[in-house]
Amino acid sequence: MSEMFKPSDLVFDREHIWHPYTSMHEPLPVYPVVSANGVRLTLDSGQDIIDGMSSWWCAVHGYNHPVLNEAVQKQLKQMSHVMFGGITHKPAIELARLLVDISPEGMEKVFFCDSGSVSVEVAMKMALQYWFTKGNPNKNKFLSIRSGYHGDTFNAMSVCDPVTGMHEIFRGVLPVNYFAESPDCGFYDEWDSHSFQSMQNMIEVHHKELAAIILEPVVQGAGGMKFYHPQYLTELRRACDTYNILLILDEIATGFGRTGKLFACEHADISPDIMCVGKAITGGYLSFAATLTSQKVSDGISTGAPGCFMHGPTFMGNPLACAVGVASINLLLESSCLEKVRNIEQQLIRNLSKAKELKQVKDVRILGAIGVIEMNEPVNMASIQKQFVENGVWVRPFGKLVYIMPPFIISEEDLSFLCKALVKVAAMQ
Ligand code: PMP
Repeated sequence: MSEMFKPSDLVFDREHIWHPYTSMHEPLPVYPVVSANGVRLTLDSGQDIIDGMSSWWCAVHGYNHPVLNEAVQKQLKQMSHVMFGGITHKPAIELARLLVDISPEGMEKVFFCDSGSVSVEVAMKMALQYWFTKGNPNKNKFLSIRSGYHGDTFNAMSVCDPVTGMHEIFRGVLPVNYFAESPDCGFYDEWDSHSFQSMQNMIEVHHKELAAIILEPVVQGAGGMKFYHPQYLTELRRACDTYNILLILDEIATGFGRTGKLFACEHADISPDIMCVGKAITGGYLSFAATLTSQKVSDGISTGAPGCFMHGPTFMGNPLACAVGVASINLLLESSCLEKVRNIEQQLIRNLSKAKELKQVKDVRILGAIGVIEMNEPVNMASIQKQFVENGVWVRPFGKLVYIMPPFIISEEDLSFLCKALVKVAAMQ
């Protein structure tokens, strides 16, 4: 039985604990959760709500999964942590083997990180160190696209959308990088080569100083929940090869099946030079991520001074996270996750499309197990969150975007309930 919250717990929370993107003066209400099972979160009040967020893309197998629980418990009895400097262990080797196996062709070397933002830092550092050891230290800038999101640490922020990505607050401190327009050719549109023009122009002007181009493949997540045409990636891969620029793909949100392919770059059948994975890598059990790269990049870094890659966090390769990562990926592969995602996609199309008729709604878009309702006006977070909970679901919108990416294990009935609540609450705005 979970311990219930006392009123003083919530007062303490409000006065002392920072929640994501929140003021300490006027924090938005938080909902006390006591446990989570399958696709349901149980609130302190005893109410069960259906989770539409997979805890921000992570909990693809839902909560309290017996296979993942067992993997953690088994590993806990062996060792929960051991330093990775000068030591290795089976969970790390098994996870790296799996990642190399399932990731796009050419991704052969694995660097374990503690979070998505750190894996982006590592990816950018790899690109810089590659050009440094190649005797080309002037290739030290990055190019990205607008409406992107790559995390909250400084280098990651420097390639987030320059308007919504906090650049104004940290002007003068953030590294200055370049941005092409966000691709305006949608995933389902007929390919329009003009969509690539801004990127092509930026590459032609800046290629001599570009270490790498970094972007989220196909789905721009926290920067706008936009789905763009895979041909953009095909063009980008070609341009990177022509102009000698490394390509970093941030698959932190899209990786492990969410878009209907194991990795979103498979929609374009391309491989990056460096790839970041995180979030669903542990099925949402522990904070963990990895940066994968090719033989070419690792050779570049490892040949010449200083010869080693200059990064090594304390919790690198944490055995608990690796063990649950192995279990989670095996579960994805064994449970035909891509078929589940296809079924979710079909149901999202059936159940959410009617929201297009609402006067409050600008657009409805669906890809894989992601459903987005874009409103005409930004929503009021405090009131909409309350309405969702009152309607039995957990959905956390931002700005004009009301969206869901449910756990892959969600049943048809639960997804139908979730979608109904989504459309109903959208109509109440
Ligand atoms: N890249 C992308 C595409 C993300 O969606 C996120 C997290 N929302 C990150 C990087 C940062 O990951 P983390 O929050 O684990 O640092």
